[in-house]
Amino acid sequence: MDVLITEELVSPAIDRLGKTYSIVSEPTLWKDPSSLKAKITDARALMIRNQTRVTDDLLAAAPALKAVGRVGVGLDNIDLSAAKKRGVVVIAPLNANAVSVAELTLGLILALARKVPAGDRSTRSGQWDRKTFTGIELEGKTLGICGLGRIGRLVAQRAKAFGMKLVVYDPFLKADSPALGGLDAVLFETLHQALGGADFVTVHSPLTPETRHLFNERTFGAMKRGSFFINTSRGGVMNETALLHALKTGYLAGAALDVREIEPPNSRDGFESLDNVILTPHIGAFTGEAQARTFEAVCDDLDRVLRGEAPQNAVS
Ligand code: NAD
Repeated sequence: MDVLITEELVSPAIDRLGKTYSIVSEPTLWKDPSSLKAKITDARALMIRNQTRVTDDLLAAAPALKAVGRVGVGLDNIDLSAAKKRGVVVIAPLNANAVSVAELTLGLILALARKVPAGDRSTRSGQWDRKTFTGIELEGKTLGICGLGRIGRLVAQRAKAFGMKLVVYDPFLKADSPALGGLDAVLFETLHQALGGADFVTVHSPLTPETRHLFNERTFGAMKRGSFFINTSRGGVMNETALLHALKTGYLAGAALDVREIEPPNSRDGFESLDNVILTPHIGAFTGEAQARTFEAVCDDLDRVLRGEAPQNAVS
């Protein structure tokens, strides 16, 4: 076997790769780590999205493995140091979906500000209730951005075009970092400082041990009363119980979540009943353009590695 696919991945780029290499696709294999371990033994490449957990244990069971192709960006499901130690290259086209995630983020910010989903639900139910759906403008409001990397910066540029003021928390940036160029953004040294004056807070940091539950009871409490929280990064950066509490008590005005601590969420745990919460099923990267770019880049790189050439999108 040349390529093992362990999640629901379908694309013309995979079909093209299949003309040269033998591909085994088992869309639910990620759910069964012991079967996955048994199947991966002779695979030369693995293609995954964000569900398959690539651990040192799994890599140990795959002596022929040369590459892991990650169709997407977040790398928190892959043990990068184990891959490096075992000489397995990890491929992830990091720029391929940044625009799509940034555009979704702006869409969610606008939808929160103008209560679009709740207004839609109300109108469909036969109401014509304009007063309840009085919103706010983005112009002049402050957007707090946690993590000013590829996606955070694209969000900042777009928010600036709406006339928003920008405040940033990113411990890896300095005041003269090029990432801040042209944004007129204020960089704060602590997250709490950045949160205090923001009308909207959007998270674009990776999920790491430092960022796990970075948004918790204390941090939600440090946000401005009546502000909005948007998360299109990773569910693990927020404590959902704390967020739910901040929303139910009315401390926060609303939230938009594209990502969840457990995906898919295994219980209807309360967000669904709140009219001021917008929920999407991790679709940040799900546009035709981003998916096509991502699949092409991963498949081209797997082809390169399997031919003994260097990949263009190696992250480790
Ligand atoms: P990136 O690596 O370009 O940027 C991340 C930024 O976060 C960097 O500037 C980094 O310095 C900063 N950061 C690191 N630790 C931090 C901390 N403790 N506090 C604050 N900032 C910190 O990543 P990116 O490509 O912009 O992706 C951002 C996030 O979006 C990732 O979590 C990724 O998994 C997620 N993502 C989600 C989707 C989706 O479908 N919703 C799609 C793509 C990416």
